[in-house]
Amino acid sequence: MKGRRIDIDYISMKKPILSVILILTAALGACQSGTNTSTNQVNNPKKAMETSYNKTDEEWKKTLTPEQYYVLRQKGTESPHSSDLNGNFDEGTYVCAGCGTELFTSKQKFDGHCGWPSFDNEIGGGDRVKKIKDFSHGMVRTEIVCAKCGGHLGHIFDDGPTSTGQRYCVNGLSLGFKKKEETK
Ligand SMILES: [Zn+2]
Repeated sequence: MKGRRIDIDYISMKKPILSVILILTAALGACQSGTNTSTNQVNNPKKAMETSYNKTDEEWKKTLTPEQYYVLRQKGTESPHSSDLNGNFDEGTYVCAGCGTELFTSKQKFDGHCGWPSFDNEIGGGDRVKKIKDFSHGMVRTEIVCAKCGGHLGHIFDDGPTSTGQRYCVNGLSLGFKKKEETK
Protein backbone atom coordinates (compact mmCIF):
# COMPACT_ATOMS: atom_id res chain seq x y z
CA MET A 1 0.00 0.00 0.00
CA LYS A 2 2.79 2.40 0.87
CA GLY A 3 4.45 2.03 -2.54
CA ARG A 4 1.25 3.07 -4.44
CA ARG A 5 0.96 6.37 -2.54
CA ILE A 6 4.43 7.36 -3.58
CA ASP A 7 3.53 6.70 -7.25
CA ILE A 8 0.48 9.01 -7.11
CA ASP A 9 2.51 11.81 -5.53
CA TYR A 10 5.13 11.57 -8.28
CA ILE A 11 2.51 11.87 -11.09
CA SER A 12 0.87 14.95 -9.52
CA MET A 13 4.33 16.65 -9.33
CA LYS A 14 4.80 16.46 -13.11
CA LYS A 15 2.09 19.03 -13.99
CA PRO A 16 3.63 22.12 -12.39
CA ILE A 17 7.03 21.30 -13.99
CA LEU A 18 5.43 21.19 -17.46
CA SER A 19 3.73 24.57 -17.00
CA VAL A 20 7.04 26.14 -15.86
CA ILE A 21 8.70 24.89 -19.08
CA LEU A 22 5.85 26.40 -21.16
CA ILE A 23 6.25 29.80 -19.46
CA LEU A 24 10.01 29.76 -20.05
CA THR A 25 9.55 28.99 -23.78
CA ALA A 26 7.09 31.87 -24.14
CA ALA A 27 9.51 34.24 -22.39
CA LEU A 28 12.38 33.19 -24.70
CA GLY A 29 10.21 33.88 -27.75
CA ALA A 30 9.51 37.39 -26.47
CA CYS A 31 13.23 38.01 -25.93
CA GLN A 32 14.09 37.01 -29.51
CA SER A 33 11.52 39.33 -31.07
CA GLY A 34 12.93 42.16 -28.93
CA THR A 35 16.47 41.51 -30.27
CA ASN A 36 15.25 41.59 -33.89
CA THR A 37 13.80 45.08 -33.45
CA SER A 38 17.08 46.57 -32.18
CA THR A 39 19.12 44.93 -35.00
CA ASN A 40 16.93 46.66 -37.59
CA GLN A 41 17.72 50.02 -36.00
CA VAL A 42 21.50 49.40 -36.18
CA ASN A 43 21.28 48.44 -39.86
CA ASN A 44 19.85 51.82 -40.90
CA PRO A 45 22.08 53.26 -43.67
CA LYS A 46 24.48 56.02 -42.68
CA LYS A 47 23.40 59.50 -43.71
CA ALA A 48 25.32 60.79 -46.71
CA MET A 49 27.63 63.78 -46.22
CA GLU A 50 25.70 67.00 -46.56
CA THR A 51 26.87 68.61 -49.78
CA SER A 52 25.09 69.65 -52.94
CA TYR A 53 26.48 66.44 -54.47
CA ASN A 54 24.78 63.65 -52.55
CA LYS A 55 26.48 60.29 -52.85
CA THR A 56 26.68 57.59 -50.21
CA ASP A 57 30.03 56.22 -49.02
CA GLU A 58 29.27 52.98 -50.90
CA GLU A 59 28.75 54.90 -54.16
CA TRP A 60 32.02 56.81 -53.68
CA LYS A 61 33.88 53.52 -53.09
CA LYS A 62 32.66 52.29 -56.47
CA THR A 63 33.85 55.35 -58.41
CA LEU A 64 37.15 56.13 -56.62
CA THR A 65 40.31 54.09 -56.10
CA PRO A 66 40.95 53.14 -52.43
CA GLU A 67 43.73 55.80 -52.30
CA GLN A 68 41.46 58.51 -53.75
CA TYR A 69 38.68 57.51 -51.34
CA TYR A 70 41.09 57.83 -48.40
CA VAL A 71 42.15 61.36 -49.39
CA LEU A 72 38.90 62.79 -50.83
CA ARG A 73 36.33 61.25 -48.48
CA GLN A 74 38.34 60.55 -45.32
CA LYS A 75 40.51 63.71 -45.41
CA GLY A 76 43.69 61.70 -45.77
CA THR A 77 47.05 63.05 -46.97
CA GLU A 78 49.15 61.35 -49.61
CA SER A 79 52.88 60.90 -49.01
CA PRO A 80 54.89 63.98 -50.06
CA HIS A 81 56.53 63.81 -53.50
CA SER A 82 54.34 60.80 -54.40
CA SER A 83 52.19 62.47 -57.06
CA ASP A 84 53.17 62.57 -60.72
CA LEU A 85 51.38 65.93 -60.89
CA ASN A 86 54.13 67.55 -58.76
CA GLY A 87 56.44 67.86 -61.71
CA ASN A 88 53.71 68.36 -64.30
CA PHE A 89 53.92 71.80 -65.89
CA ASP A 90 52.08 71.02 -69.12
CA GLU A 91 49.40 73.47 -70.19
CA GLY A 92 45.94 72.39 -69.13
CA THR A 93 43.29 72.29 -66.43
CA TYR A 94 43.20 70.52 -63.08
CA VAL A 95 39.82 69.05 -62.15
CA CYS A 96 38.37 67.52 -58.97
CA ALA A 97 38.94 63.74 -59.09
CA GLY A 98 35.59 63.25 -57.37
CA CYS A 99 33.21 65.20 -59.59
CA GLY A 100 35.22 66.66 -62.48
CA THR A 101 34.75 70.33 -61.56
CA GLU A 102 37.53 72.48 -63.07
CA LEU A 103 39.46 73.89 -60.11
CA PHE A 104 42.89 75.16 -61.21
CA THR A 105 44.75 76.04 -64.41
CA SER A 106 48.36 75.23 -65.23
CA LYS A 107 49.04 79.02 -65.13
CA GLN A 108 48.08 79.01 -61.45
CA LYS A 109 50.50 76.18 -60.64
CA PHE A 110 53.96 76.80 -59.23
CA ASP A 111 56.70 74.63 -57.79
CA GLY A 112 56.07 74.89 -54.05
CA HIS A 113 58.98 72.52 -53.17
CA CYS A 114 56.67 71.09 -50.50
CA GLY A 115 55.96 67.71 -52.06
CA TRP A 116 52.40 68.43 -53.16
CA PRO A 117 51.00 70.20 -56.25
CA SER A 118 50.75 73.90 -55.39
CA PHE A 119 48.61 76.67 -56.88
CA ASP A 120 48.46 80.43 -56.21
CA ASN A 121 44.79 80.82 -57.13
CA GLU A 122 41.69 78.95 -58.27
CA ILE A 123 39.42 79.16 -61.31
CA GLY A 124 36.45 81.52 -60.86
CA GLY A 125 35.60 83.96 -58.11
CA GLY A 126 36.46 81.74 -55.14
CA ASP A 127 33.28 79.68 -55.04
CA ARG A 128 34.71 76.41 -56.43
CA VAL A 129 37.04 75.75 -53.51
CA LYS A 130 35.45 75.93 -50.07
CA LYS A 131 37.65 77.06 -47.15
CA ILE A 132 37.02 75.51 -43.72
CA LYS A 133 38.90 76.20 -40.44
CA ASP A 134 40.71 73.00 -39.42
CA PHE A 135 41.89 72.51 -35.82
CA SER A 136 43.09 68.90 -36.22
CA HIS A 137 46.60 67.63 -35.29
CA GLY A 138 47.11 70.51 -32.82
CA MET A 139 47.36 73.10 -35.59
CA VAL A 140 45.10 75.87 -36.87
CA ARG A 141 44.92 75.52 -40.64
CA THR A 142 42.42 76.17 -43.40
CA GLU A 143 41.19 73.03 -45.13
CA ILE A 144 40.17 73.28 -48.77
CA VAL A 145 37.41 71.10 -50.22
CA CYS A 146 35.66 70.93 -53.57
CA ALA A 147 32.53 73.08 -53.16
CA LYS A 148 30.48 70.81 -55.41
CA CYS A 149 31.16 67.30 -54.03
CA GLY A 150 32.74 68.10 -50.65
CA GLY A 151 35.90 66.15 -51.55
CA HIS A 152 38.97 66.99 -49.42
CA LEU A 153 41.67 68.69 -51.53
CA GLY A 154 44.30 69.79 -49.00
CA HIS A 155 45.04 73.07 -47.19
CA ILE A 156 45.56 76.72 -48.12
CA PHE A 157 48.31 78.87 -46.63
CA ASP A 158 49.04 82.61 -46.92
CA ASP A 159 52.77 82.20 -47.52
CA GLY A 160 52.63 81.90 -51.30
CA PRO A 161 55.64 83.29 -53.22
CA THR A 162 53.61 84.92 -56.03
CA SER A 163 51.60 88.17 -56.09
CA THR A 164 48.46 86.48 -54.68
CA GLY A 165 50.35 85.47 -51.52
CA GLN A 166 48.33 82.25 -51.45
CA ARG A 167 49.47 78.65 -51.57
CA TYR A 168 46.85 76.03 -52.32
CA CYS A 169 48.60 72.82 -51.20
CA VAL A 170 46.63 70.06 -52.93
CA ASN A 171 46.86 66.25 -52.86
CA GLY A 172 47.59 64.96 -56.37
CA LEU A 173 45.12 62.11 -55.69
CA SER A 174 42.32 64.70 -55.39
CA LEU A 175 43.04 65.99 -58.88
CA GLY A 176 42.72 64.96 -62.48
CA PHE A 177 44.61 66.74 -65.28
CA LYS A 178 43.14 67.67 -68.64
CA LYS A 179 45.98 68.54 -71.00
CA LYS A 180 45.29 71.41 -73.36
CA GLU A 181 44.82 70.08 -76.87
CA GLU A 182 47.36 71.56 -79.24
CA THR A 183 45.76 73.64 -81.98
CA LYS A 184 47.46 73.73 -85.34
ZN1 LIG B 1 34.41 67.65 -56.55
